[in-house]
Amino acid sequence: MLRHHGSRRGTGFAAWTVVVEGTDVLLVDSGYPGDAEALVASVTATGRSLDDVVAVLVTHAHVDHVGGLAALPDHVPVLSSQGEAAHLRREFLEQLTPTTLATRLWRPRVARWTVDVLRSGGLRDVALPRAAGVETGARLDLPGRPVAVPTPGHTSGHVAWHFPDDGVVASGDAVVTAHPTSARTGAQLLDAMFQHDPAAAEASLAALRGLDADRLFPGHGPPVRWAPPR
Ligand SMILES: [Zn+2]
Repeated sequence: MLRHHGSRRGTGFAAWTVVVEGTDVLLVDSGYPGDAEALVASVTATGRSLDDVVAVLVTHAHVDHVGGLAALPDHVPVLSSQGEAAHLRREFLEQLTPTTLATRLWRPRVARWTVDVLRSGGLRDVALPRAAGVETGARLDLPGRPVAVPTPGHTSGHVAWHFPDDGVVASGDAVVTAHPTSARTGAQLLDAMFQHDPAAAEASLAALRGLDADRLFPGHGPPVRWAPPR
């Protein structure tokens, strides 16, 4: 069973996925630090508890995707691609700089979003020294038997998590369906200011469209159906 959940400020603000198989729970991403309570509620709503969480899969190392992990016990493994695991350990940092953001603050949506980010703990340090890398392209022995799909662009180690048996892809920020800084809804790329490598992000969207999955569980915005290739 896979369920998509959103921040109390809305799925466009931050979203994550809860996977339940038997008594085991797996998370994909976790929202902002301010979403920790909603994250816990999304697990207990399945009838399980935080003690049942066997691992957390991370699409990328930004605070709106890993901030909620502070609610989990320290022994729960945090997994991503090798490159993104190093990013999670804060061996480097790839994100929108305050300087770039300052040049966009004249846009009302960007200004409002920035205030909400600050209120949600967006400046908190979220280094995760225990983050470990997994092999991409291989099914993992975890609930839903997920596969890490390299989708560089938003960050260089970004991965989407494909659940082939369920026809679901949890895309993180490789493709979203809403964002507080966007006037559009539906599957879309984030604004170029959020992309570490905009050209790679375009190519990753094409790679995602090639996966055998008919449901998209994005890192921002509600889940949508999309047609897999024939
Ligand atoms: Zn994000």
